[in-house]
Amino acid sequence: MKVKLNRWNAVSVWQWGEVQDEVCGICRVAFEGTCPTCRYPGDDCPLVLGVCKHAFHIHCIVKWIDTDSRGSCPMCRQPFQMAME
Ligand SMILES: [Zn+2]
Ligand SMILES: [Zn+2]
Ligand SMILES: [Zn+2]
Repeated sequence: MKVKLNRWNAVSVWQWGEVQDEVCGICRVAFEGTCPTCRYPGDDCPLVLGVCKHAFHIHCIVKWIDTDSRGSCPMCRQPFQMAME
C-alpha cells in the first residue's frame, strides 16, 4: 500500500514539472495566462501551434513574425507555419 502511494506521488510530481514548462517562448508567460497585451485569457488570446510543435500566444507570434525578416520560429528558427487542426 505504501509503495503504491509513493508511485502515485512520483507520477504527479512529474506531471506538474511538465506543466510548468508550458510557457510561451516569446513572452515567457504561462499558456493559461495571456500575452502582455491582453488582460483576459481565453478566446481573446488564443494559442497557436506551429508545425514545428512550438506553441505561442497568437499575439506574440504575430508580432514576432512581423519583426523577424525570415518569419522563423523563435524556438527552433525554422520558418513558422501554423499547424491547422
Ligand atoms: Zn506570449
Ligand atoms: Zn494576446
Ligand atoms: Zn519551432
